[in-house]
Amino acid sequence: MQDAILIRYADLSLKGKNKKRFVDLANQRIKEKISDTRVTYAHRHDRLYLNLNGAESSAIIPILKTVPGLLSFSIITSVDKDLKNIQEAALNRAKTIPLNKTIKVDTKRADKTYPLTSLEVSQAVANYIFKHHEGLTADMHHPDEMLNIEIRKDRAFVYVGKIQGLEGFPVGSMGKGIALLSGGIDSPVAAYLAIKKGVDVELMHFESSPLTSIEAAQKAVDLAKKLAVYHKHNRIVLHMMPFGKLHETIMTYVPKPYHITIMRRMMVRVAERFANLDHTPIIINGESIGQVASQTLESMKVTDKVVDLPIIRPLAMLEKREIIAIAKAIDTYKISIKPFEDCCTLYVPSQVATNPRDFYANRYEYLFDYDTLLDDMIQAKKTLEISTDDTLDLTMEGLSVQEALKKVMP
Ligand code: ATP
Ligand code: MG
Repeated sequence: MQDAILIRYADLSLKGKNKKRFVDLANQRIKEKISDTRVTYAHRHDRLYLNLNGAESSAIIPILKTVPGLLSFSIITSVDKDLKNIQEAALNRAKTIPLNKTIKVDTKRADKTYPLTSLEVSQAVANYIFKHHEGLTADMHHPDEMLNIEIRKDRAFVYVGKIQGLEGFPVGSMGKGIALLSGGIDSPVAAYLAIKKGVDVELMHFESSPLTSIEAAQKAVDLAKKLAVYHKHNRIVLHMMPFGKLHETIMTYVPKPYHITIMRRMMVRVAERFANLDHTPIIINGESIGQVASQTLESMKVTDKVVDLPIIRPLAMLEKREIIAIAKAIDTYKISIKPFEDCCTLYVPSQVATNPRDFYANRYEYLFDYDTLLDDMIQAKKTLEISTDDTLDLTMEGLSVQEALKKVMP
């Protein structure tokens, strides 16, 4: 007997000529995450079979659950095609099903020369199970669990049930995007949703030190580490942009109700300059319609005016409750709710324009030389590559954010 994992791809069937590219990329994303070298792979009929060769499925399944582009998995027992072996393997699997559940045995034959029909195999296996194991009953129409048998050319597979994957598309299959990552609850969720949809994401954090603390910058690093879990090679790029000087300039020249509007416009301008250098087609942020005073449709429009690239807002239509549920599932929530201020939490709602106008925004931006400030910021950026097993600590004795970043850079 030999255990394997059957992996089904998510929604790749619709992709026509691109299918091969998607499947190859999904396979690559799986292989680069599984470090157990005993595991071998076989690709057949739009499915991937991962032979465990003694590796533990309980160690592999949690990894597969972090790979975008996979629909579901089943842990299979592979036996030679003798009916007796199939019955024995099926019985062992049936014993893992909780008592008092209903089951249905379903057989598929790829090998049409097999002496029994699919129905005959199902009946023989079901009879064997019910004879040797009490506590399960048959239900042909709405079973709690399916016990599946596949008879292939070389061997037979037996498996029970499906473990749900992330779905979405393999990372990189949809091109690149820059995700604006604050220290809040929303933007890590937005970045995650983009990664899940196959976007090769680079993160960008604007840190407003000395107005904001080093702990706020550390939150971005810690969040990036959580997002790296879903990204290719368990790594993700995080650009740390020194925003302090520009932030202070905005506070000096711009009336308070327009601070957030202008800051947001500056952030997307930076992201766009960056993206253009790198052929990145989209910017992603964590705005959700109506969630706070600055996230109105008018405000989004005034932000979008200053860039050509599309700004994708994966959370636009979600409720806060739904966003928090995802944040908890991807384990970013407890980092996000740590109390340290980032640039935008410095503002109280009554001071924010809910209906900003492009005309006024342009007028206020005309009051200072933001182009030079943006150039300086891009010059002084620090780019980190964060991996799931890094422990990157910026909060060192008495260092500024920039000094700490310099110190941790390779
Ligand atoms: P979040 O929970 O993501 O911080 P928020 O509800 O606090 O969102 P805002 O402060 O209005 O919303 O920010 C809106 C979006 O702008 C964020 O979701 C994020 O994508 C981006 N953003 C805000 N501040 C920063 C920052 N310091 N660095 C990078 N991006 C930022
Ligand atoms: Mg925020």
